Amino acid sequence: MKRYFSFQWHITDECDQRCKHCYIFSENPNLKTQSVNFDGMKKILANCFKFCDTFERIPYFYITGGDPILNKDFWNLLNELKKHDIQFAILGNPFHLDAEICNRLRELGCDKYQMSIDGVQNTHDKLRKPGSFDCTLSKIDLLKQAGICSVIMTTVSSLNFKELPEIIDIVLTYSPRLKSGDSGINEPCTLASVFRFSSEWSTPQPFSSTMMILSEQIKISKPYIPTTKVEGFTADFGKKRS
Ligand code: SF4
Repeated sequence: MKRYFSFQWHITDECDQRCKHCYIFSENPNLKTQSVNFDGMKKILANCFKFCDTFERIPYFYITGGDPILNKDFWNLLNELKKHDIQFAILGNPFHLDAEICNRLRELGCDKYQMSIDGVQNTHDKLRKPGSFDCTLSKIDLLKQAGICSVIMTTVSSLNFKELPEIIDIVLTYSPRLKSGDSGINEPCTLASVFRFSSEWSTPQPFSSTMMILSEQIKISKPYIPTTKVEGFTADFGKKRS
């Protein structure tokens, strides 16, 4: 029984947002963007496959950017993954998703789609762009209907840490199957919430107060603990396939 090995793959800098905390654009919103082309993608894939063969692992890809769908070879890459029967997750934006795109993603092997909610509406839209909050939440149902699990990522910083309980509530509101007692994020079409901490949070004080807020909220949301992860996104290391 082989285990998975996950790769997080940044295929383009192209993005419709210019988030305040972005590691690509925060110092220069007009940065000249770069993308990997299809020839480059095939070379990288070959390397990943070789690595997984050597260590007897099944490859799994978290495809990201920027917004990966803006890479002109995005669909070529997904077709290539499908050819090799490889499942993947997308870490992207909501703006280019519609029912047809979601169904196409699912057919090609997408099992998770991660978007961001960085606060209540005002905070989120200030950090990202106006309309981004509503647009993100409106896509959860589309993904669900296509059979893709949604994941909500929050980048925690001094600008939003007090809103973490509300963010968790928003995620739970959009997770009807979790409320009815489903077991966790590996169920198709459920919604999970994940936090990562902005690099400004290297000092212990704000970090520990955030952890206190989170632990209070997790107590309130006890039945949902398995779906709430702190630090990093859900990886598939160790997941087994027979
Ligand atoms: S969505 Fe991601 S890549 Fe785009 S600006 Fe925001 S943080 Fe940067």
